[in-house]
Parts: sequence; structure tokens; C-alpha cells
Amino acid sequence: MKTTTNIKTLKDLGEAGIIRLIQGRVSQKLPSYVIKGIGDDSAVLETSGDRVLLVTTDTLIEGIHFTDQTLSPEALGWKAIAVNISDIAAMGGTPRTAFLSIGLKAESKASFLESFMVGFNALAEKTGIVLAGGDTVECPSHVLVTITLLGDCLPGSVVYRSGARVGDDVWVTGPLGNAAGGLFVLRNKQAGASLGYEFLVRAHQKPIPRLDMGKALGESGLAHAMIDISDGISKDLGHICEQSGVGAVLQEASIPMSSELIELAGARQKALQWALHGGEDYELLFTASTADKEKVESLTAKLSGRPAVKVGTVIPGNGIFLAQKKAKVPLEGGGYLHFCK
Ligand SMILES: [Mg+2]
Repeated sequence: MKTTTNIKTLKDLGEAGIIRLIQGRVSQKLPSYVIKGIGDDSAVLETSGDRVLLVTTDTLIEGIHFTDQTLSPEALGWKAIAVNISDIAAMGGTPRTAFLSIGLKAESKASFLESFMVGFNALAEKTGIVLAGGDTVECPSHVLVTITLLGDCLPGSVVYRSGARVGDDVWVTGPLGNAAGGLFVLRNKQAGASLGYEFLVRAHQKPIPRLDMGKALGESGLAHAMIDISDGISKDLGHICEQSGVGAVLQEASIPMSSELIELAGARQKALQWALHGGEDYELLFTASTADKEKVESLTAKLSGRPAVKVGTVIPGNGIFLAQKKAKVPLEGGGYLHFCK
């Protein structure tokens, strides 16, 4: 076991340890207008109006989150705003105002930025987001994009990660693993290799955040806890469980996967690894009372044409388990770990 004196690098701390270090160095006594600080998909701040302010920020870095092989400049613009919208959706909120900070190589073509803005605007306009500021810097080694997104919500409709209750059903709003499958196709691209898998590639490049779904689940009061799936259900369900002081069992046979993903993987069991650990699907993961099962199904079906899928149950204790045909095995959070490459 490592002792703190042996810790030399951020890799040793890991992402969770780094967040803990930062959290430990700031005042724990938050002013009363900070309803939720570090630790959820967005911060929640009180305003003088009748809605609370939601604030989230996310960064995409060339070489870590994308390469020119995996994202075109246009897809990068779309995805950079999409991942932030998804965090507002996960709170049940409505996105409003974006701030874009972008680091570019001096020799980058102007057309790179033009294409980036085409992708950014396409989704910003669709979702009513206004770009209101930001920063531009020269970054000689790689492209980096940070977006800060503000949104709002009625105070009673905000859904936190911490609200899961023992006995709740665990739901996801759509199939999992498509984005990881799409990334696999892009990374292993040989001539024509992506043919037939455009659907998976699109899931990786241009995810559609579940904004209407998040808002409706918040306003209806059906969702007790919610998060978006950015790192993989194994890791993101872990966040809900930790914050709610509960555990969960996922039913392996219920994890929704597309036929394209299973075909690409060659077997359902192999596709399951992408579905559980792949991440970047930006579907919503939420818990709701078993008594509301039908209400959840009809609300989500009305919004997207297909109902959300029940994938598990919240249990007492801690840890996440995967119920297979004959066994129940602990599920390690194998999602993407920053600083651990
Ligand atoms: Mg999130």
C-alpha cells in the first residue's frame, strides 16, 4: 500500500485524489448562495430571481480526448459544446450562455476555426445557447478547448447525484457503448473499414445530449438522482452510489446495446465491455422509485420515441455488482481514468 510520502506524481493521486486535494485546499465553509459546489455535474448557485444558476465546465485536449483521426474540426466544435450541455441536462436544467476558451497552434489553418464554429453553432442554435465570451491563446503543441456553460433551473426541479434511495430502479435513457465502438472504428480505420458503422462513428463524434429528457425527469420529480454517462456506467453509477451512500446491482442482460455494436464486437459479451466501461455516450443515468416505473416509461417514450431502459436496482451498502445468469460479481469502475495512462 502506498503511503502519502511516496506520492510523487499526479498519476499516483489519480483524478479522484486530485479533486480531493483541490477540495481540501479551499474553504469548506461555502457561502449560503452556493447550493452545490464541487461534486456534481454542475454547480448550483442561488440567484435573486426564482431560478437557480447552473455552471459547468469541460475541456477537450488533442492527444487525450481526440486526434485529427477521430474528430474533424466541425465534430470537435459540436462535441465540445455537447459534453457541457449534457452536464446541464444531468441536473434537469436548461443551458443558456457559453464561454469558449480555445488554444490553437499558430500554423493552424483559419479554416480549422471556421469549421469548428460551424459544428459549435449547429448545436448551440438547436439548443438556444448564446456564446457570450471566452479567451483565445496560442498553444504550440496541441489544440485545447474549454467551454464553461451556464444554465438555469427551478430550484425544486434540480436533480443531484446524491438522491438515490434503496429500492430505486436504475435507468438509462438509451443504448450504451456506441461511442466506444465508434472510437474503435475510427482508430482502426482502414480503407472502407467504417462502412456500415457510420451510426457508431456518429455517436462518438456528434453525441446528442438528452436535454429534453433531463428537464422532463427533473420537472416531473420522477428522478431521485441523475448523472450523464461520460466515463462509462460502471464509473458514473459509482458516483451516484458514493454521493447517495448506497450500492447498486446492474442486470447484465438488461444493458441496452445496439445491433451495430454487437456486430462490430463480434459477440454480445465483448460489446458489453464497451457498454459498461467505454463512456462518452452522454445518455442519462438516473434512479426512480419502483412505484413510478410506468410513469418513467411513458414520459421517456413520449420524448424520444423509445422508453428509457431499467438496468438495475439500488441496494443498501456500497459497491456496484453485475448480476449475470448464474453469478453476481463486483463491477469495478473501469471507465476512463484521467492521469492514469
Ligand atoms: Mg457529467
